[in-house]
Amino acid sequence: MSEKFDVVVVGAGPAGYVAAIRCAQLGLKTACVDDWQNADGKPSLGGTCLNVGCIPSKALLDSSEKVAQAQHGFEAHGIKIDKVKVDVPTMVARKDSIVANLTQGIAGLFKANKITSLHGRGKLLADRKVEINNAGDSSVVSADHIILAVGSEPMAIPVAEVDGDRIVDNAGALDFDSAPKKLGVIGAGVIGLELGSVWRRLGAEVTILEAMDTFLAPVDQQLAREAQRTFTKAQGLDIKLGAMVTASKVNKKSVRVNYTLKGEEYSDTFDRLIVAVGRRPNTDDIADPGVGLALDDRGRIEVDHECRTNVEGVFAIGDAVKGPMLAHKASEEGVAVAEMIAGQQAHINHDLVPWVIYTHPEIAWVGITEEQAKADGLNYKTGFFPFAANGRSLAMNEKGGRVKMIADADTDRILGVHILGPNASELIAEAVLAMEYSASTEDIARTIHAHPTLSEAMHEAALSVDGRALHKVN
Ligand code: NAD
Repeated sequence: MSEKFDVVVVGAGPAGYVAAIRCAQLGLKTACVDDWQNADGKPSLGGTCLNVGCIPSKALLDSSEKVAQAQHGFEAHGIKIDKVKVDVPTMVARKDSIVANLTQGIAGLFKANKITSLHGRGKLLADRKVEINNAGDSSVVSADHIILAVGSEPMAIPVAEVDGDRIVDNAGALDFDSAPKKLGVIGAGVIGLELGSVWRRLGAEVTILEAMDTFLAPVDQQLAREAQRTFTKAQGLDIKLGAMVTASKVNKKSVRVNYTLKGEEYSDTFDRLIVAVGRRPNTDDIADPGVGLALDDRGRIEVDHECRTNVEGVFAIGDAVKGPMLAHKASEEGVAVAEMIAGQQAHINHDLVPWVIYTHPEIAWVGITEEQAKADGLNYKTGFFPFAANGRSLAMNEKGGRVKMIADADTDRILGVHILGPNASELIAEAVLAMEYSASTEDIARTIHAHPTLSEAMHEAALSVDGRALHKVN
């Protein structure tokens, strides 16, 4: 007889562990199955986000930004440092201890919430059963409801196969023992820019090869163009757009990469190469074929707007289903599904998922871009405010970037907010909340913002939509 639960969650990333905690809070007998293990063979909860994604990359982004400030930013504040010494192993160890702290924290939360944590790879069987395989041992549990939260894995390309040494994915790029002299990155997306920035700040010469001709296509292009100028001119990232990698060859201490650009063939040699060309759902062998779990043509588990799969009682959430591969979207789906299982009303607003790219300056946005507004033929108006005219920003020696707001020209309802600038990741929360309440730019314009703060740039951008920003010429 297999042990029976109210809910079995497969996957303990930000989708699965949050779903499990919410289920347990709602009084449901919950188990969570996860197969993550670290290089030392020890299981670790938290999935990609905590182990090799959001958290460790932010730890290194923060450390490396401090290096960049010490080298190039402090002088303007009247602080002179003769020579900044960088100790990469200490930096990486600090990152590892933050990860250990948080992943162990989830184990503690599971214990406190009486969630049964099961180590092994879960596979959906018929009749709401899950088979758990752990190094050859197999067991089966059953449940009234199953939540598949199996996440995603880095996409591989045959022209540059990851070997974990010279050619690495995002995980490998968090563990270099020193900054490579020459670093190549394939893909100028979120991971390529974040990790490229880390190693650039730590001294690497960084070349990013991006297949598309447009830089950061999902980002409002006015901001993307300004960001591109800053990353290339001020920070020295060599971003080659329209570069198609055709081959690579690993040598003893380097990797040679061939690519085509505007019809010409090029070859470059790097000490290390990061492949960051997107992620794919981790759904190989996720269900017994007899179950008939429907996947789409990209391998994602098909779900309706309430994250229900085509199998009765089985839900799927996070990176393994449609929508952006973002931890906060995954967690919200986890909460909503847990509440639905407990018989409550739940709601996920997929139109208002904020995005953040943790470069310097940061890029954050929610809602539609101006390009989308144009393509949809909307009658819209825009406003913007530059951080160069914001007192707090100047006090911080941050002079670039802007807040841009897009609103419906007839109703004034906010349609999109785009921020390139200091602390954009924090500032965007105001825009998400405003849009969640269907706010108009007038609502933000009439809201008192503390002085002197970066948030005044949001206030002024809202005023600017109506041509009445106070600290810039409209
Ligand atoms: P991405 O989709 O952001 O970017 C991949 C880039 O690689 C694209 O610009 C694409 O055009 C390019 N590309 C694809 N194939 C290529 C090729 N053969 N040669 C050259 N360029 C190629 O993917 P990512 O950066 O790998 O990140 C994966 C996912 O992880 C993202 O979808 C994102 O949701 C998530 N993520 C989010 C954050 C964050 O929120 N800050 C951070 C890291 C990752």
